[in-house]
Amino acid sequence: MNSQRTFDVAVIGAGVFGAWTAWHLAKRGKRVVLIDAYGVAHSRASSGGETRIIRMGYGADEIYTRWSQRSLVQWKELFAARTQEALFQETGVLWLSGGDDARFRQTVATLTRCGVPFEQIDVKALEKRFPQIGFDGITAGLLEPHSGALMARRAVAAVVEEAIRLGAEYRCAQVLRPPGSGRANEVATNHGENIAAGQFVFACGPWLGKVFPDVLGARIFPSRQEVFFFGVPAGDGRFAPPALPTFLFQGDESYGMPDLETRGLKIALDRHGERIDPDTQSRIVSASAIEEIRHYVARRFPALRDAPIVETRVCQYENTSSGDFLIDRHPGMENVWFVGGGSGHGFKHGPAVGEYVTGRILDRIEPEPRFSLATKARTQNRAVF
Ligand SMILES: Cc1cc2nc3c(=O)[nH]c(=O)nc-3n(C[C@H](O)[C@H](O)[C@H](O)COP(=O)(O)OP(=O)(O)OC[C@H]3O[C@@H](n4cnc5c(N)ncnc54)[C@H](O)[C@@H]3O)c2cc1C
Repeated sequence: MNSQRTFDVAVIGAGVFGAWTAWHLAKRGKRVVLIDAYGVAHSRASSGGETRIIRMGYGADEIYTRWSQRSLVQWKELFAARTQEALFQETGVLWLSGGDDARFRQTVATLTRCGVPFEQIDVKALEKRFPQIGFDGITAGLLEPHSGALMARRAVAAVVEEAIRLGAEYRCAQVLRPPGSGRANEVATNHGENIAAGQFVFACGPWLGKVFPDVLGARIFPSRQEVFFFGVPAGDGRFAPPALPTFLFQGDESYGMPDLETRGLKIALDRHGERIDPDTQSRIVSASAIEEIRHYVARRFPALRDAPIVETRVCQYENTSSGDFLIDRHPGMENVWFVGGGSGHGFKHGPAVGEYVTGRILDRIEPEPRFSLATKARTQNRAVF
């Protein structure tokens, strides 16, 4: 089967980056087709989780603070146009730090510079306000009252619906790597269809290295990440908002969310797990991770020491060497773009990523060096958190 239609842009991948890219391009009046191998924010996608944190704190990495500010505005605008669901929950985000923490001080400086409201809380006040948390080793807290959680997979579905409303087309098919070099005129799908377009944006998240093994196979590091939900005691409001905000224990490399939509307290370690294949990795949590997280929950949320694990999820980060995004042209194909490398923190930035990609394609805006392919090494040295 051959498609006669020529699109301005074909966006491959309907995770958060591809969805927002399609939305921005459609908003600018471009003919867009959005294609995904498995569906919108499906269970194997990095965007397929129930919830993702949106916070402004990024240490000294002001670019991500500003992109997060810009993105929250756009998320809220998009949700406001749809009345049905609360897809952003303003739980507040509580940072907890122990010892002499340079990153914590940098976050304070950056948030101040960027005009982000926040409150610094000493340990005595933390213990009084959040008696359900175990604060051993914690010396300071910082609360972003207007940050919170995005209901991730449903939020991406909402973006795709809005992109379609603006005129984008959506298809479910696997796109094959464009052959040759120079300029791509079309891509083929595993259905035998050819899709012609002026530009091709590959927003394939953890699959980028599989689609472009020669250029990206050694530059995208998909890592296994295990997530747990602990059931809260019956009738106990201490683990739901507003009693408990979204939280990040910087020194422990852990994060989590309060009991949202009665799914239980979400908690996970932010450390990179083993390298995986996103098509085939097991989505069942490991016994060793269960043991580790139980031990950890007993320390930080003592009342949940014996709480049942009511849900689990296994996902993957799609890390670059530094944690900076990858948004750049294919080195050998002038109209083929890579968009990915969310590196465990990309979800919140979907709107700003889509806007930037659109600006690069339509307005030829100045490229941000941190997002270039040239800065992506073949060994990992995480610098952005
Ligand atoms: C456990 C976990 C917790 C996280 N927590 C946070 C958080 O709190 N806050 C935050 O901001 N970020 C967080 N992140 C990171 C964030 O979720 C990701 O950075 C983001 O979702 C990446 O989106 P993406 O669109 O690049 O990739 P994906 O969502 O994986 O989308 C890529 C899509 O491309 C499609 N695709 C691939 N190859 C092809 C092909 N050949 N043809 C057609 N389609 C194809 C796939 O099917 C997939 O749907 C977390 C990630 C994980 C795993």
